[in-house]
Amino acid sequence: MPERDAIIVGQGLAGTTLAWCLLEAGLSVLVTDREEEVTSSKIAAGLITPITGQRLALSWQVETFLPAARIFYALLEQRTGEKFFHEREAVRIFYREDERERWELKRLDPAFQRYLSDPQPSPLLDPVVAEVTAGGFAMRTAQLDVAKFLAVSRRYFQELGCHERREFDWTVSLPEARWIISCEGYAAARNPYFDWIPFKAAKGEILTVRFDRPLAPRSVHRGIWMAPTDDPTVYRVGSTYDWEHLDQCPTMEARGELEAKLRSFIKLPFVVENHEAAVRPIIQESKALLGLHPVHERLGYFNGLGSKGSLHAPWFAACFRDYLVHGSPLPAGCDLRKNF
Ligand SMILES: Cc1cc2nc3c(=O)[nH]c(=O)nc-3n(C[C@H](O)[C@H](O)[C@H](O)COP(=O)(O)OP(=O)(O)OC[C@H]3O[C@@H](n4cnc5c(N)ncnc54)[C@H](O)[C@@H]3O)c2cc1C
Repeated sequence: MPERDAIIVGQGLAGTTLAWCLLEAGLSVLVTDREEEVTSSKIAAGLITPITGQRLALSWQVETFLPAARIFYALLEQRTGEKFFHEREAVRIFYREDERERWELKRLDPAFQRYLSDPQPSPLLDPVVAEVTAGGFAMRTAQLDVAKFLAVSRRYFQELGCHERREFDWTVSLPEARWIISCEGYAAARNPYFDWIPFKAAKGEILTVRFDRPLAPRSVHRGIWMAPTDDPTVYRVGSTYDWEHLDQCPTMEARGELEAKLRSFIKLPFVVENHEAAVRPIIQESKALLGLHPVHERLGYFNGLGSKGSLHAPWFAACFRDYLVHGSPLPAGCDLRKNF
């Protein structure tokens, strides 16, 4: 028998959540990550928004994913003694007339009401801070401090002796382990065992801005979003989608777009302190893809978290654990072997 149950390649949201699930199940795990300064997970705002998009739709299976995420992150906060998951209010400001019309219908739907703030704040936002003439609503959301979650987890794994900083090389003879699992994000497009899986990846750019005064810790959404950080004067502003230029280079064009959109509703002056870009690993919309390789049975894959990694990763990681440990089926449409 191999001395280790699983080698997990990549410590982004996918690798970190899977490592926790396998460790909690009593398996021996080694997490290996090349520790790039900028990755999709490290720059993500970690927003978990149940009501999304212009259609004001409920996020896919949010009633399953959100309770699972809450339990998962709360357990890990207990384990590590650190706080990285925050229940937060978010304000959605309308910028098109049809959004308001849709809202008038949706607000009567009990499934939708579950995620609304009750009572709705009045005014929705401080009029000195933002322009809300077209109306909007406040909702109950959450936010994962992703960079902190990853850093705290890495420290924990290091203390257990199950983390190493290394570029994993798939082209040489693979090390002994029951499973070697690729959690490499968009880099998996170049993995020689999994390069046949088609990506619809999207580059995203995000700004870090500083206001001249502290603001309430709420995210505000109006086409783009601004998301709070630990510092009440500093917000993250994002994000853009670019399906053509799949690199990590910040562009003046995206910065201009984000700044202009922020200025269209925020009245306070701000300075841009940082500007980052990374590629979201999107395979099939926001559905993850996971499972074992169709031929190489000890090679696994957990990817495709898309734009919803903070919300989806805990539930999918738990499904993968149950599949590996108990032979439970993977969620419909997400099983690598059945889909490709
Ligand atoms: C600008 C932006 C904003 C976002 N905002 C949000 C948000 O608000 N909410 C949300 O839920 N999601 C958000 N996302 C999406 C979210 O970040 C992704 O769902 C998530 O990061 C995917 O995580 P991952 O672990 O699959 O990939 P990654 O984060 O890319 O992690 C892969 C890891 O594997 C490592 N790696 C790769 N290959 C190797 C190798 N061969 N050897 C060793 N290490 C390797 C990489 O260095 C990296 O650490 C955002 C993304 C972007 C770009």
